[in-house]
Amino acid sequence: MLRNDQLAEWDRETFFHPSTHLAQFARGELPDRIVKTGDGVYITDREGNRLLDAFAGLYCVNVGYGRSEIADAIAKQARELAYYHAYVGHGTEASITLAKMVVDRAPVGMSKVYFGLSGSDANETNVKLVWYYNNVLGRPEKKKIISRWRGYHGSGLMTGSLTGLELFHNQFDLPLSQVIHTDAPYYFHRNVRSQSEADFVAQCAASLEELIEKEGADTIAAFFGEPVLGTGGIVPPPEGYWDAIQTVLRKHDILLIADEVVTGFGRLGCMFGSDHYGIRPDIITIAKGLTSAYAPLSGSIVSEKVWKVLEDGTDKLGPIGHGWTYSAHPIGAAAGVANLKLIDDLDLVTNARETGAYFKQALKDALDDIEIVGDIRGEGLMAAVEFVQDRETGARFEASRKVGPAIATALLDRSKVIGRAMPQGDILGFAPPLCLTTEEADTIVEATRDAVKTVA
Ligand code: PLP
Repeated sequence: MLRNDQLAEWDRETFFHPSTHLAQFARGELPDRIVKTGDGVYITDREGNRLLDAFAGLYCVNVGYGRSEIADAIAKQARELAYYHAYVGHGTEASITLAKMVVDRAPVGMSKVYFGLSGSDANETNVKLVWYYNNVLGRPEKKKIISRWRGYHGSGLMTGSLTGLELFHNQFDLPLSQVIHTDAPYYFHRNVRSQSEADFVAQCAASLEELIEKEGADTIAAFFGEPVLGTGGIVPPPEGYWDAIQTVLRKHDILLIADEVVTGFGRLGCMFGSDHYGIRPDIITIAKGLTSAYAPLSGSIVSEKVWKVLEDGTDKLGPIGHGWTYSAHPIGAAAGVANLKLIDDLDLVTNARETGAYFKQALKDALDDIEIVGDIRGEGLMAAVEFVQDRETGARFEASRKVGPAIATALLDRSKVIGRAMPQGDILGFAPPLCLTTEEADTIVEATRDAVKTVA
C-alpha cells in the first residue's frame, strides 16, 4: 500500500481539484483528507478517522456507503458487458430495466428517460430538448430560459448560467445571454419583515410574470427550478409557491423543468419533490440518488406532452443530434437498478420522511435557545441551520466572519461529524444518507449544538 505522505505529495503535484481555492490548497491550508472506506452513514480516512457523513458526500449517497448489493451488480455487469452504446436504438437489459423503473416511479404524465452522466449534462440536455421542441412547433424565437437566483443547476456553460450563484458566474463571463433570473422563494430573507407568506408568494409570482411580460412570453421557452433550493442554502419554498408559479407558467405556455438532482428518489420523504409540492413538470432532471453515486449516471425524464412533439418532430427535422458516448452506460444502469431496488426493499423513502421529521424537530429543540440561530428548516432528510447577527431582523453576519465554515470545522474537529458550510457562508447544511437512524440523528444534533456553542 502506498504511504500517506507519498499520496499527499502526488496530490499536491498532480491533482487539480474541482471547486477548490488552489493557492490555499498549495499552501496546505485546506483539509486534504484521503478517504478510504465507507459503511452506512460513515466514511473512514486513511489515518483511521471514522466520520459521520451528514451530507452523504454531495447529497448523493442516498442508500449509504458499502452496499454490497450495488457493488455486486456493478461487478456482474462489468464482467458480462462493460460497455455498449445506446445510439440509434441500442440498449442493454440494465438500461432498459432502469428506464422502466424510473418511469414507473416518476410523477404522473412522465413518459421516457434520456440517460446522461451528471446533473450538469442532463440539464444541458434539457435546454437542447426544449429548444428542439420549440423548433418543431415552429417558434424559433421562444428560446430564453428563466431560472432563479440561488438556484443550482450545474457547472457547464449553460448550466453554470442557469445556476443563480455569483461564484459560478464570476470570472467565467456567465451567464450566457439566453438565461435570465428571477427571485428565489427565500421567505426568511424577505425585504419586509411584516410580510405574510401568502403575500410573499404572490410577490414571487408577480415578479416572475413581470419579467415574462418584459421579455415577451413568445421569447421564453422554459423555467428551471429545484423543488427545494439546494446549494443556494437548502430553502424549502413557502406554502403555495409552486402552485402560484405554475399558474403563471401555464398562462404563458412556458415549460417547467423540475431539477430533482438532489430531491429525486426519496430525499424529501417522497419519491420525487414534484409529488410533495404538486409540481406537474414537463421534464425532470435526475442524477445523484439515481445510483446513490455508486456510478455516475443522470437522466432527463420527459413528459408525454414533450415526448409527442419530439417524436413527431424527428420526422420533420431529422434525428435528435445529441448524445454522449456514455449515455445509459451499462455499469451505471446496473448500479441504478440495484440502487432503486434497495430503496424499495429498505423503505428508505418512508425513513427519510419519518427520521427527517425527527431530525428537524431535534435540531429545533437543541438549538432554539441559541441567539445566533436564526432559522432551522428542512424537508425530509434535507435540513439547514442559518446563523444570523440579529434574530429579530434576520440581519446577516458580515461575510468576513465566516460563521458557517467555523461551525462546520468545529463539528468535524470536535465530533467527527461532516455537515456542509453552504457557499453563502452563514448556513450549515445537512443531507445525510436516507438510511439514517434516530440514534445517528441524535449524534448529529448533539454535535451541532456543541459546535454552534463554540462561536455563539
Ligand atoms: N442540479 C442540482 C439541483 C444539483 O444540486 C447539482 C449538483 O449538486 C447539479 C444539478 C449538477 O450535478 P453534477 O454535479 O452531477 O453535474
